[in-house]
Amino acid sequence: MPTYEFLCPRCKHVFEKKMTVEEKKNTTVSCPKCNSEEVRQQFFGVSFSGKKNARGNSSGGCCGGGPSCCG
Ligand SMILES: [Zn+2]
Repeated sequence: MPTYEFLCPRCKHVFEKKMTVEEKKNTTVSCPKCNSEEVRQQFFGVSFSGKKNARGNSSGGCCGGGPSCCG
């Protein structure tokens, strides 16, 4: 299940949500701090593979920075 990272422009709070693609379609994400629904998804924070700049994999980017891999 991918983790999506969101930024709330209203209070500058950054938070993560784990959900499936199906869930994401059917869920309105709101800021847990100020309850605003105008949050923006931070695409660089998504722990998917498939980044365009996959070169330089030796610097710990083997798994997108997940907490349970790369030692
Ligand atoms: Zn907020």
